[in-house]
Amino acid sequence: MSYDTENIFAKILRGEIPCHKVYEDDDAIVFMDVMPQAPGHALVVPKAASRNMLDADPTTLAALAALVQKVARGAIAAFDADGLTILQFNEPAGGQTVFHLHIHVIPRQDGTPLRPHSGQMEDPEVLKANAEKLRAAIHI
Ligand code: 5GP
Repeated sequence: MSYDTENIFAKILRGEIPCHKVYEDDDAIVFMDVMPQAPGHALVVPKAASRNMLDADPTTLAALAALVQKVARGAIAAFDADGLTILQFNEPAGGQTVFHLHIHVIPRQDGTPLRPHSGQMEDPEVLKANAEKLRAAIHI
């Protein structure tokens, strides 16, 4: 399986399509998932091109893990979450739908089930507000 430069996250990284951005540095970008499985669902996306965990450079993965932890801590604070679900899918059989490596950070409330993966589009105003909340709570 090869990397397709026309995948939707590559287009976001190139600025060709918009996103509700939370954070960006030289190596990664964090933005809100448009079909959140819970309020505050964010995606942590390395800029280096890889399809998923299988073809990623280990150095990229190490830096990504450190950023995921910062986003995770921010998400707990921003959304007053009781916990977090961190997800990462590989290839269609593994549930992957966008073929540029990314990690899902999903704030969870006790007793509230996750909404379906790639389910319903969220109101852009809600995504904007949640991006602002998360941005304010992340300490890099
Ligand atoms: P995957 O199945 O590849 O792990 O997850 C892809 C995620 O990207 C899904 O949760 C889906 O809701 C989200 N997604 C799909 N298209 C877009 C988009 O254009 N913008 C954003 N921000 N998220 C997207």
